[in-house]
Amino acid sequence: MKTATISHVTFGTFLEQVKAQKVQRVTLRPERIDYILKPDFGFKRFYTTRPADNTDDIPALLRRYQVDVVAPVDNTGAVAGLMALLLSSGALMGTLAWLLKTSPGADAMGTGKTKARTYSPTPTRTRQGEKTAVTFADVAGVDEAKQELKEVVDFLKDGAKYRKIGAKLPKGVLLVGPPGTGKTLLAKAVAGEANVPFLSVAASEFVELYVGVGASRVRDLFNKAKKLAPCIVFIDELDAIGKSRSGGNPNGGNDEREQTLNQLLTEMDGFDGDSGVILIGATNRPEILDPALKRAGRFDRQVLVDRPDRSGRLEILKVHAQGVLVAKDVDLGAIATQTSGFTGADLANLINEAALLAARHNRQAVIMADFREAMERVVAGLELRSRILSPIERKTVAYHEVGHAIVGALMPGGTQVSKISIVPRGKGALGYTMQTPEEDRYLMLEDELRGQLATLLGGRAAEEVVFGKVSSGASDDIQKATDLAERAVTQYGMAPDLGPIAFAKTQSEFLGSDTTRRPMSGEVAAEIDRLVKQSIHQAHGVAKSVLMLNRDLLDSMAQTLLTEDVLEGDQLKAMLTQARSPVNTQIWLAKGRVV
Ligand code: ADP
Ligand code: MG
Ligand code: ZN
Repeated sequence: MKTATISHVTFGTFLEQVKAQKVQRVTLRPERIDYILKPDFGFKRFYTTRPADNTDDIPALLRRYQVDVVAPVDNTGAVAGLMALLLSSGALMGTLAWLLKTSPGADAMGTGKTKARTYSPTPTRTRQGEKTAVTFADVAGVDEAKQELKEVVDFLKDGAKYRKIGAKLPKGVLLVGPPGTGKTLLAKAVAGEANVPFLSVAASEFVELYVGVGASRVRDLFNKAKKLAPCIVFIDELDAIGKSRSGGNPNGGNDEREQTLNQLLTEMDGFDGDSGVILIGATNRPEILDPALKRAGRFDRQVLVDRPDRSGRLEILKVHAQGVLVAKDVDLGAIATQTSGFTGADLANLINEAALLAARHNRQAVIMADFREAMERVVAGLELRSRILSPIERKTVAYHEVGHAIVGALMPGGTQVSKISIVPRGKGALGYTMQTPEEDRYLMLEDELRGQLATLLGGRAAEEVVFGKVSSGASDDIQKATDLAERAVTQYGMAPDLGPIAFAKTQSEFLGSDTTRRPMSGEVAAEIDRLVKQSIHQAHGVAKSVLMLNRDLLDSMAQTLLTEDVLEGDQLKAMLTQARSPVNTQIWLAKGRVV
């Protein structure tokens, strides 16, 4: 029997793939983890990795990301173990045939063929067990994107109508947005709605070892598409081949990628709107795409698929709650309010996590408490009570978090501190202070921005006030505060001496952090640095004076937190209403300017 191709990857790669929700199925062994990827991510070979030393939280991680875990078959070598992975799903027999055909020696022969999978139309299995296509009803909270894509559906259904009028439909639609917002789902829904075949491929699959293979795969994909037309060709992770060519690769060796990209451009130019092939691309990094891809006649329409707002989140929660038994006390509206910043994938994950918790407690239905617990998990990683902090570390963390809470309670901006916890969660976060905005904010007023700065620095300030020395635990806060102050000066025009001039360019509309400074004189740059520094210093000073004035409250709250691990609800509220605002804080807030 021929053997399968097995890729050895690092444990870190494995973790990344799990977190990116790319992993389909896993076999855990003490010395080895075997796994395969989901079809969307190149269901082409088997991966194996050696677990790192502390692997006890792996089962929990796999549950969280909904990875199937298959029991290892005893007394087996690698291949039989991989068979277990395969045979655990009846739907994968085609792959088994592929496995038997493939051997390292035969590999070079089949590689020119596209690996695009055809779904006709995309079948998914609902919880009721019937087969249905993904439709727009399954995608919520992205109404504008849906609206744009409805036109594409209409065209696929009734191309004659458009041709008669002489309307030109876009050849390519580029879905742009952060990971997990539903781009892949939307593309599938277009195919499902139009009831046409859906050819799906990840751009990374084009690029392989041998030069020329990618280009030939692209050609093959388009030939297949033309035969199947009307149909949709979906190219996921377009940035993998579509990177700007001018960017240059210092190490060289991007010939293959360039050739593949060129072939894609040629193919796109080579068919017209009448062919009935519609190309949908997806990327979360539009700014690095080669401009040639976005030219007219190629991906000439961009559709932004952004994180949902509150009502969008509610709609998404409703869609995903359909599949689970939800108790009467569950208030999806309240959950939507508290999940600002979550993507559709995060929300789907939240519901699943809550359902798992309910099942673990042998409940008939998911109750609100399950959602609350699930939210904390999703927000801050899995609870790892086993992780032991030394008494002094715990004390430092407690004061740090209470510092955030007290300063935050006195600042404007409609942000309530709803919970403080010093139960370590996941890696990195030792404690956390959960702020629940009363509503989604699209605008931050100057005083709120200053309040945010002071709140971020409240943790560090508490350490200084109480211990007279600081820990490394505030690095994330400091990073965030610096970014915020920098944006106030360079993007929001909040420094009167500089005026409302943008000194930074945002490279991507939704990944707010990707900015570069405009070319500017050294003087202006120095002035910007001075103003950023000044606003941070002021905010830090304010945080400190708040905590010095409220030292008794700081101590008593930290004590309670140390005994109870968590402060929340009415108890927390009652404590925070005792906080008093020092005079200089009021002056600073009322000053009407950030710097
Ligand atoms: P992307 O391609 O943008 O990274 P996906 O389409 O792969 O995101 O989303 C992953 C999963 O998250 C989906 O299969 C779905 O379960 C859920 N999801 C994401 N966005 C939405 C949405 N807008 N509505 C409903 N479910 C969503
Ligand atoms: Mg995707
Ligand atoms: Zn902090």
